[in-house]
Amino acid sequence: MTDDAFSDGDREEPTVSCERCGREWNLDRELDDLDPGGHAVEQFALDHERHTGHYPDDVTPWTARCRRCPDGERFLAERPARRWAETHARHTRHPVRLEAPTGAEDLVSADGEVDGS
Ligand SMILES: [Zn+2]
Ligand SMILES: [Zn+2]
Repeated sequence: MTDDAFSDGDREEPTVSCERCGREWNLDRELDDLDPGGHAVEQFALDHERHTGHYPDDVTPWTARCRRCPDGERFLAERPARRWAETHARHTRHPVRLEAPTGAEDLVSADGEVDGS
């Protein structure tokens, strides 16, 4: 895995900017009561999407969507999205479609098989 040489301040003061809104937020101040780790950014991004219908800059969601029932969730990283899909598939025997920020799609089925075609 390669890192996009872009991580020079993500531990101290998480800031989030949104080009569409033309704004920037310092999460340390805005969300004092939340974990100063990645969760604040994640929470903020989900919140922002809920209010405005779009995500802030540099935030690309993963979408897990069940193909059999209306269940579905959005995540900001592959791991929790895949975990949700696998858990749902295992519990319900439903195939879950996993949509990557890149537009790629995966199908997570109850057997733990992943059909990547
Ligand atoms: Zn915005
Ligand atoms: Zn389902």
